[in-house]
Parts: sequence; structure tokens; C-alpha cells
Amino acid sequence: MPEADPVEAPLEAKSPFELRVNLGKNVPESAVRAALATGDMGFLHSFTTGSAVDGPGIRVVGWTSGCMWRCLYCHNPDTWTMTNGIPVTVEKATETLRKYRHGLKVMSGGLTLSGGEPLMQHRFVLKLFAAAKAMGVHTALDTNGYYGDRVTDAELETIDLVLLDLKTADPERHRRLTGMDVGPTWEFARRLAYLRRPVWVRYVLVPGLTDDAVDVGKTAAFAGGLGNVARVDVLPFHQMGKYKWRQLGIEYGLEDVEPPSAALIERTCELFRAEGLTTY
Ligand code: SF4
Repeated sequence: MPEADPVEAPLEAKSPFELRVNLGKNVPESAVRAALATGDMGFLHSFTTGSAVDGPGIRVVGWTSGCMWRCLYCHNPDTWTMTNGIPVTVEKATETLRKYRHGLKVMSGGLTLSGGEPLMQHRFVLKLFAAAKAMGVHTALDTNGYYGDRVTDAELETIDLVLLDLKTADPERHRRLTGMDVGPTWEFARRLAYLRRPVWVRYVLVPGLTDDAVDVGKTAAFAGGLGNVARVDVLPFHQMGKYKWRQLGIEYGLEDVEPPSAALIERTCELFRAEGLTTY
């Protein structure tokens, strides 16, 4: 695995597709544990500004490091390891966000925390969201939902929007695609529906893996039945993260997979629309 120099890797990045490794490697294990327990410090792969695709308006996106899933089509496998990220105190992250708060309000945007899986560091994430809300900034959490039970009902109030990544309705296929069970994610989705918290569903469309019409139909029926899904983003698979798999020395099984055709994207959107959902 290549070594990275923290000096050459400022927190702000042009995009999350910059490979980042080992930036938190000098943080002692005990400090990592303390950070996770208190939420006073978190690990961020990077943050980017000006995103128009990670929630409403124009967003600052904090990309957290650490993920327990191993999706075959992950675009950012360098975010799997928490200590690949840069250690950042919640004060520093808040201070950085403060610089953008007026612009974010003018552009009807806000702060999105994505990853990696942000709820791996749920205390840090919740502290940062609380700070964002205190300065009037809209908050969005992009999550695979697996650790949704770490967030209390009261804490969910600090999250204006959940961008929930649904992968497949089929439990076996879910395990094959991600290495993890689908149950906790769907349970979180049902809980968000019960609490009437706003959700946008994100669905990565990968030819040969997540394009089966029957399977998409089941996912769409589930999402449509929740009653709190304002929109579905069908995200076409791409190969921008391929080089990261190579550089990290992880076997990548999707070398030859092409992005989905316009017709396949349309067919998939139609399956979601058939369940009364709005797609983008
Ligand atoms: S949940 Fe997201 S970050 Fe984690 S492996 Fe899957 S695609 Fe990658």
C-alpha cells in the first residue's frame, strides 16, 4: 500500500476520487477508541465543496473514513479503513463549516456527511450535525443504514434528510454484493418511515449486478411502500474508482463492466416510478 504524506493531503479535496491512505496512521489505537467513544474527534477522508448531487442545493460534503461493508462496486475503497482518513476535531470541522454557512444558506444547500459509512463514527457525526443545526445549516446523512440503531429518535431530529443507499431486496444477493446482511438497513428504513423522517433513496445501477428487473421491482415496492421517500436517485455505475482498487492491491471483479446504457437507466427509473416514486 502506498504511503501518503499528510502535508500533501489537505482536508479539502477537489473530489472524493483522490486516493488517500494512512493519513491517521500515527494516531494511537487508544486515541482512536477514545475519539469513537466521545465523538470529539473523527476521521475524514476529505471534504469537498460545491456538490449539487448529495442533497438539496449546493453542499459541503464531509467524506468520512471507515466502512464495514465491502461492496463489489465501491468507488472509494480507500475509505474502508478509518485511519486512512485525517483526524479532525469536531471544533475544527465546525470552524471549517462556519466559513461556508452563509453561502450554503443562499444556495439552499447544507452539509452532507457521506463516506465510507458515517455511522461508523456516529458520535462525531451527531456532534457535527448538532453544530451545523445550531448555525442554521441544513444537514443530510448519506448512509448504508446498517448502524441506524446507533442513532436515537431524538438524535434523528438533527438530521434533516437521510440519503439511504439501498442495494438489493434479495438477502443472498445483498450478502454477495456487500458482504453484509440487508436486514438492519431495511429496519432503519422502516423506522425512518414510522418517524416520518425525510428520505431520498440512492440506488447504484450496475449492469449484471443490480439491474435485474424483478429485483429492482422488489426494492422499488419496498421504497414506495414506506411513504417518506421524496425521491430516488438512480446512480449509474462508473469506473472512476477503479484505479484505487489497483493501487490498494485489492482484487477488483468489475474490470470489464461498462456503465449502464441510457435505456437501462430509463427502465430502472420506470420500475421505481411504477411504485409512485420520483426518480432522478
Ligand atoms: S457502503 Fe459505500 S463506502 Fe461502504 S463499501 Fe459500500 S459503497 Fe463502499
